[in-house]
Amino acid sequence: MAELKLRGINKSFGSVPVLHGINLDIADGEFVVFVGPSGCGKSTLLRTISGLEEPSAGQVLIGGEDVTEFDPSERGVAMVFQSYALYPHMTVEQNLGFGLRMGGMPREQVAVRVAEAARTLELNDLLDRKPRQLSGGQRQRVAIGRAIVRQPKAFLFDEPLSNLDAELRVQMRIEIAKLHQELGATMVYVTHDQVEAMTLADKIVVLRAGRIEQQGSPIELYDNPDNIFVAGFIGSPR
Ligand code: ADP
Ligand code: MG
Repeated sequence: MAELKLRGINKSFGSVPVLHGINLDIADGEFVVFVGPSGCGKSTLLRTISGLEEPSAGQVLIGGEDVTEFDPSERGVAMVFQSYALYPHMTVEQNLGFGLRMGGMPREQVAVRVAEAARTLELNDLLDRKPRQLSGGQRQRVAIGRAIVRQPKAFLFDEPLSNLDAELRVQMRIEIAKLHQELGATMVYVTHDQVEAMTLADKIVVLRAGRIEQQGSPIELYDNPDNIFVAGFIGSPR
């Protein structure tokens, strides 16, 4: 696992600025949640960390190394997407191992990684199934499993639970919290769900129009929001 640092990140699409001078330190093992209104730049910031977007200016450091010029596959971080994006014709086991095999990892080593991830996520009894034979929650666990097998330095989640119904969302939220404890992993998580942010985060980062409006622990932001905008997202009703 590793610390993440963002230094003066600017991002424009064409002539439209989307991120403005973002500076952020994420400690090794920290669970950081980005919140903010639709279109404020949460996904773009996450994609800048993963390398799916290149910043117009600034640096991304992972584990102390400047990775700004690195391809996504060279950064050692894993993105968990909202859509399940599993291969429908492959079994769970094949889905879990596919990325590693494509990366050239020997079959035996892939099998060990897949078995470990299956144990962590309690997928052992489902390894021979196809995605269509899984529940929504099970599919989401496989999607997370595809990140775990890579043993990434950090996990990046972009609204991973937003397609699930309310009950399942609660269940998966608890599982993600457990996973964070178990792996001690650095996690960056985008959501617009206040409860998810409050319960999962060590630190919440409130974004507004491409800037960090305020950051702090859930309690700090809840008790002492700097302004009414932050209060609207996570502050206590006053
Ligand atoms: P959020 O995830 O907070 O909803 P995004 O990071 O997806 O916000 O988007 C921030 C802004 O950047 C939005 O105005 C969006 O329309 C714009 N944007 C995002 N991706 C692109 C792109 N590939 N091309 C042009 N504009 C984009
Ligand atoms: Mg988004």
